Amino acid sequence: MPEPVTRPLPAAVRAAVDRLDRADADGRPADADLRGPREECGVFGVWAPREDVAKMSYYGMYALQHRGQEAAGMAVSDGTRIVVYKELGLVSQVFDESTLASLEGSLAVGHTRYSTTGSTTWDNAQPSYRPTVSGGLALGHNGNLTNTTELARRLGELTDGRDAAHRRGTTTDSDLVTGLIAALATDDRTLEAAALEVLPMLQGAFCLVFMDEDTLYAARDPHGVHPLVLGRLDAGWVVASETAALDIVGAAFVREVEPGELLVVDEHGVRSHRFALADPKGCLFEYVYLARPDTTIAGRNVYETRVEVGRTLARESPAAADMVIPVPESGTPAAIGYAEASGIPYGAGLVKNAYVGRTFIQPSQSIRQLGIRLKLNPLRESIRGKRLVVVDDSIVRGNTQRALVRMLREAGALEVHVRISSPPVRWPCFYGIDFASRAELIASGLGVEEIRQAIGADSLAYVSIEGLTLASEQPAGRLCRACFDGAYAIPLPPREVLGRRHPEDVELPFVEHNGGDPAGDDALADREPLVPVGALGSA
Ligand code: SF4
Repeated sequence: MPEPVTRPLPAAVRAAVDRLDRADADGRPADADLRGPREECGVFGVWAPREDVAKMSYYGMYALQHRGQEAAGMAVSDGTRIVVYKELGLVSQVFDESTLASLEGSLAVGHTRYSTTGSTTWDNAQPSYRPTVSGGLALGHNGNLTNTTELARRLGELTDGRDAAHRRGTTTDSDLVTGLIAALATDDRTLEAAALEVLPMLQGAFCLVFMDEDTLYAARDPHGVHPLVLGRLDAGWVVASETAALDIVGAAFVREVEPGELLVVDEHGVRSHRFALADPKGCLFEYVYLARPDTTIAGRNVYETRVEVGRTLARESPAAADMVIPVPESGTPAAIGYAEASGIPYGAGLVKNAYVGRTFIQPSQSIRQLGIRLKLNPLRESIRGKRLVVVDDSIVRGNTQRALVRMLREAGALEVHVRISSPPVRWPCFYGIDFASRAELIASGLGVEEIRQAIGADSLAYVSIEGLTLASEQPAGRLCRACFDGAYAIPLPPREVLGRRHPEDVELPFVEHNGGDPAGDDALADREPLVPVGALGSA
């Protein structure tokens, strides 16, 4: 077993520790790192003329809240007019009874947003909207496009620059798609035909749910990077990012939207179009952390996967310990699996303050410096005098784990053995997950033993990429594992891979950048709260 840190640290580890110290000093664990990798977005759509589609969308979005907590929005159509309502904040903050009661209709799309491209502004919240020759188009997107420069150029050419008038400050890749479909829908070309022209132009990861006044559409990129499923109601249809959202609205799972498929849902039922050959590369990190445990992806339940990863981790990296504890909640299934396979008793050692990361109130500096204690509190009586195995889902910057190890030792743990239920995250994601830049990823510069020293654990081990892949029950060739192995399934320009945070950071000729870091609170302060934008959506 590796011994605790007692010798002078190697220079690379010292530099990493200094970086973690600086981040601790400015309270970073209280906000950035504690959230872990940030999900992309959640999308939901319902076509059900006899249902309260606004309330159904609300509950669907609520089930997908973990995929995006910066903004929420919904578009509803009564057959003649689309109304879009969106705001910064959580689903429960954005919508109330009276708002939902005013959103009457027969179909709807909903969106929960975390910004992977574009700033956190009201304009960038979704669904995005465009008028068309025959009415309107509202669209929600999960994922990240990698050819936004090209798409922006095409949109500029198609509309001779006139699309800018509809953007109202929007800077997202998603809005480009809305603009392109709307621009190509003409008197002679239906929206369905326009979508089938635009979808093959898109590169990157996308799950799209969009609608006009009477039809719901759902499309998934040819690699099927992120999940998108179709469900059946007694009298209607639902599409959603995760099966858990079907469950919560009482829809029966029908099937996944296939990679490279466009579904069209209207009074005639569901039609399917292929717009590209399928080349599946499902996101492996969905199984580790992103998706809800009660979701099933490609036939494999996420909870079962995580438990199996824990068993694998126990076999690959045993530890002599008295108790296995999870870092709640995303580490819980893997900790259960680790305990089961190792025979070491499972116990609770940390209590999570579940809602602290979901407030829009910025903590004061003194509160920020409480760091990890804002989110996790140790159960001293449970862990005192014990050798602990602590199971977490991933290490991004390392701040959280270092603070955690320190906190557990202060609470009386004799030894802290950290086990991680994913391989080291060494590469950034360009398909919709915001880990950090490569320079911020602790595993991009340090080996496992060096990371152990940096976080101060008695031992550290990650599950192997083979072990995680086996647990997912997916063939390796059908998975994206780029954040672990750097093999990007969807090609990227080298410049972005090596340095840039998002492909959208390259200068877009027609997309106006708000610039800078997320400016949610400023943007919120600048305008009236809770503005229904029905006028925008009038047919
Ligand atoms: S790079 Fe990682 S997080 Fe991004 S899609 Fe691939 S597996 Fe998922």
